[in-house]
Amino acid sequence: SPVGLTPGGCAASHAAMRSRLLQRNLRVDPPLALTGQGMFIHDSNGRAVIDGSGGAAVACLGHGHPRVLEAMRAQMDRLSYAHTALYSCEPAEQLADLVLEGEPGGLTHLYLCSSGSEGVEAALKLARQYFVEIGQPNRRKFIARRQSYHGNTLGALAAGGNMMRRAIYQPILSDAFHHVSPCYAYRDRRDDESDAQYVARLAAELEAEFQTLGPDTVAAFIAEPVVGATLGCVAALPGYFQAVRAICDRHGALLILDEVMSGMGRTGTMHAWEQEGVPPDIQVVAKGLGGGYQPIGGIMIGGRIIEALRDGSGGFMHGHTYQAHPIASAAALAVQQVIREEGLLDNVRAMGALLEQRLTERLGNHRHVGDIRGRGLFWCAEFVADRASKAVFDPALKLNERIKREAYERGLACYPMAGTIDGKRGDHVILSPPYIATAADIEAIVARFGDAVDAAIASLPP
Ligand code: PLP
Repeated sequence: SPVGLTPGGCAASHAAMRSRLLQRNLRVDPPLALTGQGMFIHDSNGRAVIDGSGGAAVACLGHGHPRVLEAMRAQMDRLSYAHTALYSCEPAEQLADLVLEGEPGGLTHLYLCSSGSEGVEAALKLARQYFVEIGQPNRRKFIARRQSYHGNTLGALAAGGNMMRRAIYQPILSDAFHHVSPCYAYRDRRDDESDAQYVARLAAELEAEFQTLGPDTVAAFIAEPVVGATLGCVAALPGYFQAVRAICDRHGALLILDEVMSGMGRTGTMHAWEQEGVPPDIQVVAKGLGGGYQPIGGIMIGGRIIEALRDGSGGFMHGHTYQAHPIASAAALAVQQVIREEGLLDNVRAMGALLEQRLTERLGNHRHVGDIRGRGLFWCAEFVADRASKAVFDPALKLNERIKREAYERGLACYPMAGTIDGKRGDHVILSPPYIATAADIEAIVARFGDAVDAAIASLPP
């Protein structure tokens, strides 16, 4: 298939195909997820599978949490929907109060939508509107990073720097987006460079991009604090985000942090940027906000943008039918209450440390594991054909898919991503278990994962 037209997966007989859902792959009918309880999904193959990745780092409380279910039921009984043109609703107001408690990083307001992509779109549009409101309409450009993922809607896809996902849509993507290198030390830091020198090189590249574009034409720089799907749990080196923040500030541009995957506790602090000491002007959140119980995302916004809207046109010129949806908000409110009241961030840090330790013991010396990295309960192994040269496996071998299948055979769900043809990233697999994971769960996840990796590699042609 041409680049960008590779749905992946294993072959299955066409006669067996029955699903009318246009999902990821028309050639494979996936098993049906029937019920979920705690760490487990029970499916139509009769399997109980440990959700070792919480879907795509979504299910932070696992499945069927009684308190979240009860909150959703209670909200359904009270009110399912009311349009925001006339009304606000209680759970959305309470969710905003809870998420913004203490005004983290000076973020004072929350806009709610239904997904991460919608959140990114809102962030981009709000940045643009802000500059129009304050009389700088020339600011229409955005700088993002290569090998990033910000979502699949057209604006978010244009912001993202994943060339495989962009390829066939390139002609219909906005030209307002420009890309610089990510902070990806495993592959991009030169052997003769210290961490600080590498960070300085990346900062110089960003500064040069501002100069090339014209510093007063740039609205914002957007990045994931810990890169999720496209690189696999890659945190920036110390000092990187400070340097980025300084450059944005010097040129009057906004900093948008996309914490759709890395946020809401996933990396061991409520917000991943807390570990960098660099708050954004706009922060995008989604997955862990509602833990998968309802589709919900949002952006958190700081004071100067809100002031500009208040003094200017009076509000955000944007919105969706289902924004601040009562049931989605009630679900997210319950998820966020549970995380706080049960002290689950402590568990994320403790179980994260155990996951790192066990992964390193099991796979750290594996000749096809190039790097093991992550934070909190957000970990990834990057696979290489050769550790010394970091050469990737032929993407046609679909090692990531093989690992996913072998893991499933052993009762583990993990989150696989393919390597790249240009060798800029190896196959990698993310483990991002729910925050409720116990030590026994972590042991089981790593044991099954390790065996799956061995089996998948043994299945490769010689
Ligand atoms: N941004 C990041 C960093 C993501 O990881 C994702 C999804 O994986 C998105 C945005 C898009 O979110 P959604 O799939 O909910 O639209």
